[in-house]
Amino acid sequence: MTPTTHARRTARPTLDGRFVLPSDAGFDEARQAWNLAADQRPAAVAVPVSAADVAATVRFARDNGLRVAPQGTGHNATAIASLENTILLKTSQMRGVSIDAANRRARVDAGTLWMQTTGPAHEHGLLALGGSAPDVGVVGYSLGGGLSWLGRKYGLAANHVLAADVVTADGELRHVNAEHDPDLFWALRGGGGSFAVVTALEFRLFPIAEIYAGAMLWPAERAPEVMHAWREWTQTVSDDVTTSARILQFPPIPDIPEPLRGRAFVAVDGAVAGDPQEASGVVEPLRALGPEIDTFTAIPAPGLQHIHMDPEAPVPGQTDHMMLPASPPAALDALLEVADPASGSPLLMAELRHLGGALASAPSDAGALGALDGEYQYFAVGIPMGPDVAAAIETHHARTRAALAPFASGSAYANFTERPVDTATLYGADAYRRLRKVKAAYDPEDLFRSNHPIPAAV
Ligand SMILES: Cc1cc2nc3c(=O)[nH]c(=O)nc-3n(C[C@H](O)[C@H](O)[C@H](O)COP(=O)(O)OP(=O)(O)OC[C@H]3O[C@@H](n4cnc5c(N)ncnc54)[C@H](O)[C@@H]3O)c2cc1C
Repeated sequence: MTPTTHARRTARPTLDGRFVLPSDAGFDEARQAWNLAADQRPAAVAVPVSAADVAATVRFARDNGLRVAPQGTGHNATAIASLENTILLKTSQMRGVSIDAANRRARVDAGTLWMQTTGPAHEHGLLALGGSAPDVGVVGYSLGGGLSWLGRKYGLAANHVLAADVVTADGELRHVNAEHDPDLFWALRGGGGSFAVVTALEFRLFPIAEIYAGAMLWPAERAPEVMHAWREWTQTVSDDVTTSARILQFPPIPDIPEPLRGRAFVAVDGAVAGDPQEASGVVEPLRALGPEIDTFTAIPAPGLQHIHMDPEAPVPGQTDHMMLPASPPAALDALLEVADPASGSPLLMAELRHLGGALASAPSDAGALGALDGEYQYFAVGIPMGPDVAAAIETHHARTRAALAPFASGSAYANFTERPVDTATLYGADAYRRLRKVKAAYDPEDLFRSNHPIPAAV
C-alpha cells in the first residue's frame, strides 16, 4: 500500500517507547548515529522498549508502505545507502544481560553493548567474543560476523550464537535456533540485518578470566622494520595468537594522553590465549625490538576491549577495508609507502589484522559467514574534520586501494565495510544464493533495510 504523504507525516504506532517524526522536537538527536559522519534521514525514528514495541513498529511500517532499518548504535551507519521511506528502529533502549554460568551462555537484549556484557560474564570467570571497541552493539557485531581477539582460536562470534528472538516481516515474534526456523537461524549468523529484527540474542561464553594481552608501540619511523618483523612473526604463531599491526597518527588534541598526543607510531596489539607465562615468551620476538611503550601483560578478560584504544564515544570516521588472501613482503611495502606519515597520509590509522586459524575454516554447524576469506585484513580510518579533510581522506583511501589492489581478493568482511557495496562480495557464491532464498522466504517484500542488504531471490 502506498501511503499518503499526510499519513506518513502524522500517523504513529502505539508504543511504550518513542516514535519520533521529522516534525517532532528531538528528531535530529534521535536520527544521530554513533558514526557522526553519517547523515541519516529516515521517515521516522522508533525507539522501542520491548519486543512488543518492535512488533508494533514492524506492523505499522508494513501497513503504511514504509520499511524498517534496525540499528543498535550506528557504528556501521555509513554503509546504509538510503533511509528513504524507512523507519529507523533504534534498539538503544532495549538493554539487559543475563548470564547462565552453568551452561556458559549469555542472553542480551537487542541494544546491549559489549561493555555491558563483558563485566557480567567476567563475574563468572567467563569471556564473550567481543571485538576491539567496547561500545559496539553485541547484535550488529554478531550478525555481521564478529572478529575478536580470540578469533584465530575460536572463529567468528556469529558461529557461537545459539539462539535469537526475532520479529519477522509478518510482525510475528519467533524464537529461532538450530531446530526452529533453522534457515533463518543460519542466515542471521553472519548474514546481517536483512531478515528480521533481533530482539534478544543468546551466545556461548568461554572459561577465560585472565588473558595475556596489550599493545607495543614504536616511533613511526620504525614502521618498515616492525611491520615486516610482525608479518614474519605471524607466520610462526599458533591459533592462540590474534594480533593487529598498524600505523597510528594521533592528533594534537587534549583527549589523547600526553605520551601519544600529536605523535605517530607503529603499533602491534592483540592477545595470546593460554598460560600467561608461556604467552609472554610468544611475544618475546616483538619485545626484542625495543618498543617505546609495552602494555602486554596478563589482564582481566574485559580489558581486551580497551587494548586497541578504539574510541569509546561517538566520533566521525571515514573508513576503507580490503581482504588480503596473503600478505607477502611486497604487499607490506606497498602499504608502507602510502601509510607512512612521511607520505602525507591524513589517516588516523592504517591497520592489518591477522586472520587465519579458526577464522579460516567454517565449523560444520556454521551460519552464513562461516569463515573469513583472507589471511590478513586491511582497515583504515580518517577523521573528517571538515570537507577539505574529508576529501583528502577519500583521495588517500583511493591511493591505498590502488596500491593494495594487486594483493587483494576483491571480497570483503561486512563488519569492516562501512560504505555501500555489492553484498555478493561479502559471501561465497553458495552462501549468497542461500541467503537470497532465505530473504525471499522471510521478507519477500523487502521490509527490512540492512546496512548490507541481501536481495530476495527471484
Ligand atoms: C571503532 C570500531 C571498532 C570495531 N571493532 C570491531 C572488531 O574488533 N571486530 C568486528 O568484527 N567488528 C568491529 N567493528 C565493526 C562493528 O562490528 C560493525 O560496525 C557492526 O555492524 C556494529 O554493530 P552495531 O550494532 O554497533 O552497529 P549498527 O550500525 O547499529 O548495526 C549494524 C547493522 O547490524 C544490523 N542490526 C543491528 N541491530 C540489529 C537488530 N536488533 N536486528 C537486526 N539487525 C540489526 C543492521 O543491519 C545494522 O545496520 C568495529 C567498528 C568500529 C567503528
